[in-house]
Amino acid sequence: MNNEIEKEFVVVGAGLTGLTTAYTLTKAGADVQVLEVQNRVGGQIHTYEENGFIFESGPNTGSISWPEVKELFESLGDSCSLQVADESAKRRLIWKGTQFWALPSSLSTALKTPLFTWYDKFRILGEPFRAKGTNPDETVGELACRRLGKSYVDYAINPFISGVYAGDPMRLVTRYALPKLYRLENEYGSFIKGSIAKAKQPKSDRDRKATKQVFSAQGGLSRLVEALTSAIGMERITLEAQNITIQPLEDGRWQVQYIGKDGETVAVIAKKVITTVGAYALPKMLPFVDEAVMSRISNLEYAPVMQVSVGLKDAQEGDFRAFGALVPQCENKQILGVLFPSSCFAGRSPEGGVLMSFFMGGIRHPEMLKKSDEEVKEIIEHVLVDMLKLRPGTHPDVFHVFRHEHAIPQYEKSSGARFEAIEQIESQYPGLVLGGNIRNGIGMADRIRQAVTMANEALKG
Ligand SMILES: Cc1cc2nc3c(=O)[nH]c(=O)nc-3n(C[C@H](O)[C@H](O)[C@H](O)COP(=O)(O)OP(=O)(O)OC[C@H]3O[C@@H](n4cnc5c(N)ncnc54)[C@H](O)[C@@H]3O)c2cc1C
Repeated sequence: MNNEIEKEFVVVGAGLTGLTTAYTLTKAGADVQVLEVQNRVGGQIHTYEENGFIFESGPNTGSISWPEVKELFESLGDSCSLQVADESAKRRLIWKGTQFWALPSSLSTALKTPLFTWYDKFRILGEPFRAKGTNPDETVGELACRRLGKSYVDYAINPFISGVYAGDPMRLVTRYALPKLYRLENEYGSFIKGSIAKAKQPKSDRDRKATKQVFSAQGGLSRLVEALTSAIGMERITLEAQNITIQPLEDGRWQVQYIGKDGETVAVIAKKVITTVGAYALPKMLPFVDEAVMSRISNLEYAPVMQVSVGLKDAQEGDFRAFGALVPQCENKQILGVLFPSSCFAGRSPEGGVLMSFFMGGIRHPEMLKKSDEEVKEIIEHVLVDMLKLRPGTHPDVFHVFRHEHAIPQYEKSSGARFEAIEQIESQYPGLVLGGNIRNGIGMADRIRQAVTMANEALKG
């Protein structure tokens, strides 16, 4: 062994979860080392700037659905500012037939919209009186079909699940994938009754920090990563740490071994280790875990997603005043949807221009990621004219394709067994915590909340 160092905590992975965990620990005065395999921090988060456009290769926005999101930005102070989307973000478009339609936002638009059938529009009046489901593993699609009707599944739930999970509503299990929705039916008997009851519930000042607002960071999400990194201190973050393996020691501590960027083998002896990597990375990292137990975690499937950033200097008076536009599966188009970040956040495109972020692939079309950049450009240029009604011959001024093989974990039926396996490992091996998007949700708000919770728990022991 070339090197052996001692630390209180090791955090594996320097994405949003790992950095927020390390930040929370460091702020409490703990001695932390973060180990990251790549030569950069941020994981899925990466902001780029080109010709006046500020665009993301991974997540574009999150939702302030937990108080921990606001608290994290408050705690970072002037080093990073929360950017809340403007009113346009409330407008969401869905493709049907030959054009995009706004999702209804009032009773009158709900009645007029061509997205849903008249039968389902009237049937929804009976939603509060419909019986509760009995299958705990009911999928999001089955639940929505039972309570709302097929046209709502096709033109609301299906595109929504594409937008969030790049997944299939008939495979995602509600209690794992959308636990808040599951609880509305389970605790209140109905989505409508549950939403009304929840709105009436008294809220503490802290609860009120959680909202439905959409967020980014001023200048892009990498500014959040940079603020976390500088607060932790780059000396506490090791990049290009290859072949990380974690082993329990007889004295109750942990040995985390890796090969450093100069080829040297380093061992960190730590009281606690927190992993935040994807399920696919865990079997090699935790060789001491029983294979049968580990396979219940490593079988987690990830939707592959291709994100295409497109900047147009001339928006051609197109109506992009919306968060984005989604395409239902039954409409058979080559994109899952498109976001309009420049409509929601100032400074993302030059004056008069528009920034778009297209999503393709997902769980149902992994083959899309195999297309060459030229083929993708051809598809996008067709979409700009055919679906977004821009002038024929419109060419992007900025065009970048980002492929994510392991973009979004799918919380399907196997999730229950995975959560049990994680708990089994953690109780068998105290001091080892398995975090990241293998549990507790897939969005950035979930990641921040999990990180803060894990760090606070770790500090207690
Ligand atoms: C295309 C795309 C769009 C998204 N859109 C949204 C959105 O609109 N809203 C939203 O809220 N969320 C969105 N997400 C999800 C969001 O990006 C994640 O919730 C969040 O960034 C995940 O952070 P993380 O730290 O848990 O994981 P990651 O960012 O994946 O970080 C894990 C880190 O671990 C490192 N690592 C992996 N293996 C090893 C190893 N063997 N050794 C050491 N280190 C390792 C990785 O390099 C990485 O840095 C999107 C994700 C993608 C890919």
